[in-house]
Amino acid sequence: MGRGKGGKKLGALGAAQIPGAKAWCPSPNPQKRLDDQTQTDQAIFTLLNNCASCAAPLPRLAKQCSRCKTRYCSAACQKKHWEEGGHDALCKKIKKGGGAEQYHAEKKYKEAVAVAVEKYADDAEGQTCYICTQALHWKTKEGLVRGCACHTTEGFVHVSCLAEQAKLLVAEADENNLDGKGWMTRWRRWDTCNLCKQQYHGVVRCALGWACWKTYVGRPEEDGLRLDAMGNLGQGLLDVDEVDAALQTFESNLAITLRINPHDETHSLLCKHFIARCHQKTGRHEEAARLFRLVYAKRKAQKDTMNALYAGFHLARSLVELGRYADAKSLMLPLLRGLDSRVEQNPLMRRVYAETLYKTEGASRDDVSKAATTLEDVLSVMRKRLGAGHPDTLGTLTELDRARMTLEDKFQQ
Ligand SMILES: [Zn+2]
Ligand SMILES: [Zn+2]
Ligand SMILES: [Zn+2]
Ligand SMILES: [Zn+2]
Repeated sequence: MGRGKGGKKLGALGAAQIPGAKAWCPSPNPQKRLDDQTQTDQAIFTLLNNCASCAAPLPRLAKQCSRCKTRYCSAACQKKHWEEGGHDALCKKIKKGGGAEQYHAEKKYKEAVAVAVEKYADDAEGQTCYICTQALHWKTKEGLVRGCACHTTEGFVHVSCLAEQAKLLVAEADENNLDGKGWMTRWRRWDTCNLCKQQYHGVVRCALGWACWKTYVGRPEEDGLRLDAMGNLGQGLLDVDEVDAALQTFESNLAITLRINPHDETHSLLCKHFIARCHQKTGRHEEAARLFRLVYAKRKAQKDTMNALYAGFHLARSLVELGRYADAKSLMLPLLRGLDSRVEQNPLMRRVYAETLYKTEGASRDDVSKAATTLEDVLSVMRKRLGAGHPDTLGTLTELDRARMTLEDKFQQ
C-alpha cells in the first residue's frame, strides 16, 4: 500500500492528525504483505469475534464453518446453529457473498447507506450527484446524501460514487507506490469531501466506513489497507455513537498490530487513542483519561509533537468531563501556547479551553466573559467550516448558552 518506504510516512501521519481532525491515519511503518501460504486456512481476526450461535467471545483461531467461515465457540454450537439457527438456509448465500466477514460488511454497508439516504431525503429533493450527475444511482438505485460542509445545492452525492472514487484513487496510489502526502490525499477520500475538504460526519461517515471496510476486508489480516480500513470503520461507528462496535474494531486493530508488529508503537498508540475515545463517549471518563495520559506521555517522549498535542487535548476533554476544570485548564494552557497560529485551525480545542475558563471554580468575571467571546468566535468558525448541523457546532452552541448564563447568574448586578 505504498508503504515500502517506511519512515517517510511520519510526516503524513502528523499532518493529518491536527486536533479535532479526527482522522484515522494509515500507519507510518511498512507492513509487509505476507506470502499467501502463511495465511491459508488461518482464521482471520475479524469484526465478528463472537460465536454466531451463542454470542460467546471467540479466540482468534476459533472453529469455523468450512464453507462460509462463520465462526463458533464449539462444535455443539455449530451444529445447533445449522439445525435450529437457520444456518442451513444461509450458509450457501454467505459463501457466495464472499464468506462471513465480507457478507456481514456488505449487509451493514447497505443498511448504513439506507440510513444516510433517509436522513438527507428532504434536502436532496430535486438534486443530482456531483459525480455521476444522476438523482438515482444507475446501479444501486440509491438516493443522495451530503454529510459535509457543502451548502446550497452543492455536495450532493451517492455513497456508492464516493466509494468508487476512493477505491480507484487508492488503487492508483498503491500501484504507483505513492507515499507521504500523495498517499494521504488519496486515502482521505474515504472520509473527506473533495469539494469542501471537510470530513464527512455522522451517518455518511459511517456508511463510508462500511464501504471502506467492505472494500479491503478480503485482504490478508496483516495487510496495511485492511488495518487502515478497520480504523476508518471504527471512526465511522464512533461518529454515529455505535460505541461498542467501534471499540471492537479498535481492539481488533490493536490485537493484530501487537501480534504482527509489536514494535510499531505509533500504530498501537493510535489504536489506544481511539479506544480511549470510545471510553470517553460511553462516559467511562476515568478510563479514558488514564489511556489519553499514557498516549500523551509516550508521544511526548517520541517528540511526536502534533500527536502529543492531540492526545493532550483529549485528555483535557476527559478532565473537563470529570469536573477537574482546573487540571484541564493547566494542561491546556501550555498546549495552546505552543500552537500559535494553529489555534486558529482548531476550534474544538479552543472550545474546550473556553469550557475550562468558565467552569473552573472561582472563575472571575473576566474569565467567564473571555470564555463567552471565545465560544462566539468558535461558533462562527464552525458554522462556516463544518456547517450549522455538525455535532461540534451544535455542542458549541450549547456551551455558549451555558457560558452566557453563568455570566448572567453570577456577575450581573
Ligand atoms: Zn457458541
Ligand atoms: Zn456456513
Ligand atoms: Zn452518483
Ligand atoms: Zn463538501
